[in-house]
Amino acid sequence: MADNDCLFCKIIAGDIPSTKVFESDTTYAFRDINPQADVHVLVVPRTHYEDAEALAGAPGELADVISAGVAVAKREGIEEAGFRLVFNTGEHAGRTVFHAHLHVLGGEQLGMFGRPGH
Ligand code: AMP
Ligand code: ZN
Repeated sequence: MADNDCLFCKIIAGDIPSTKVFESDTTYAFRDINPQADVHVLVVPRTHYEDAEALAGAPGELADVISAGVAVAKREGIEEAGFRLVFNTGEHAGRTVFHAHLHVLGGEQLGMFGRPGH
């Protein structure tokens, strides 16, 4: 079910342009518009789930999102070198879009994460 006001639902529907990297029956993956690493791709479930907790209520789709993240890493050629999968939740994590999404980051040595500047 799509949410009419949701940016990522609009991207999935093709109403807002995106650069597709991978897709499956249940997922869509596209390049982040403001990349934080050489490779920065977002994987979203096609169904609108507000956050990771809601997505976890649909374990099959959660698994599909994680599998799609790994497929993205393989397709981008960063699987062997290593990559990071991240779900941001809430204000302290800097979350801005309320359609559950998995960040796939890699393609270069990543910093530590936690406090700003670490
Ligand atoms: P988060 O901070 O975890 O909510 O992540 C939201 C991500 O969506 C950020 O990394 C943004 O750069 C990214 N983003 C926002 N708008 C777009 C867009 N139109 N296309 C691609 N990525 C976007
Ligand atoms: Zn949505």
